[in-house]
Amino acid sequence: MDGSTVIHPDWCHIQQCRVGTPGAAYAWHRSSPVSGCADPDTGSLVDVSLWQIRPGHVNVLLEFPDGIEEGTELTADQAEQLAATMTRLVASARG
Ligand SMILES: [Zn+2]
Repeated sequence: MDGSTVIHPDWCHIQQCRVGTPGAAYAWHRSSPVSGCADPDTGSLVDVSLWQIRPGHVNVLLEFPDGIEEGTELTADQAEQLAATMTRLVASARG
């Protein structure tokens, strides 16, 4: 720690960010989570955010607020693939 100024990516949300936080177990930049899917009764089912733990690797984090798992991290390519796959499946489902 040399106290140098941290440069945050444009998408980084300062309250979610752990870079430069004393005592943080890991240092990551993180965007504010957005609800990828919400239920009117129970709230958010899936939250999606960007996070970066190493320079050059920005991943997409899927979290399930009601789920038992902590969440799933996808690379940008995987997230793009998943989104395209879901779009195709939904198109099939709707005929
Ligand atoms: Zn940051």
